[in-house]
This record gives sequence, C-alpha cells and structure tokens, in this order.
Amino acid sequence: MSKKWKSRPCADCGVEEGQLHQLGCGVEVCPICGNQFIGCEHYDQLIIGELKLSYGMPYLSVPNMCALCGEQWPEIFSVPDEEWDKYVIPELQNKVSCWECYEEQKKLFPNGWRSLSERK
Ligand SMILES: [Zn+2]
Ligand SMILES: [Zn+2]
Ligand SMILES: [Zn+2]
Repeated sequence: MSKKWKSRPCADCGVEEGQLHQLGCGVEVCPICGNQFIGCEHYDQLIIGELKLSYGMPYLSVPNMCALCGEQWPEIFSVPDEEWDKYVIPELQNKVSCWECYEEQKKLFPNGWRSLSERK
C-alpha cells in the first residue's frame, strides 16, 4: 500500500478512485457550484446540452473516520438514539465512532455522561 488513506469504490456508481463518476451518480458534486450534481441546475443544463463542460468530477475516496481513534472506515453499527445520547458527549454525537471507542465511552460513563454533576 503506497498511500495512507484507505480507498473504496464510489458507494453510488461504483467507480474506482481517480476515475470520473458515472453520469447520474448521487455522490458526485457539481464541478461548478459544489452542490450535489444530480440535484443542481448545471446537471440539467448539461443533460439537455445547454452547458458544455470540458471536465468532470473525479471520485476521491474520502474515508469515514472514528472521531476518537482515527480508524478509517470503521464498521457501521447502530444503537438506539437514547443510548447514543446517553453515552456519547454532544461534541461527538454527530461524528463517526468505531464500536471499540463507543464501548470505551460506555465504560467512562457507565451511567451516562449526564450522571457527572459534581465539579472537583
Ligand atoms: Zn459515483
Ligand atoms: Zn451546479
Ligand atoms: Zn475508534
């Protein structure tokens, strides 16, 4: 392995890193406005031929990473919302966590992070 990040094919259209997305891929970002390509006006203009683009948007595999240990592409798991809210501090709640780090957080806060109210 020569590079430091792990690559995956595009989750939607399946191309490999460094290739252009297939036309109509939901992951592709508009090279002009930066929004999702298939939802933006430039895509429509391209399809009807009103817009000529001399380049497309290549796919680069940007890894999902555990916010705590930095593991790339941790296995996806799901826990009930109330459990997530109980053990995961707000700073991390909308980030990715690997299972091991989630378990560590449960050990840190066995009764949930809100159970700590006394400042030393
Ligand atoms: Zn794609
Ligand atoms: Zn656009
Ligand atoms: Zn982790």
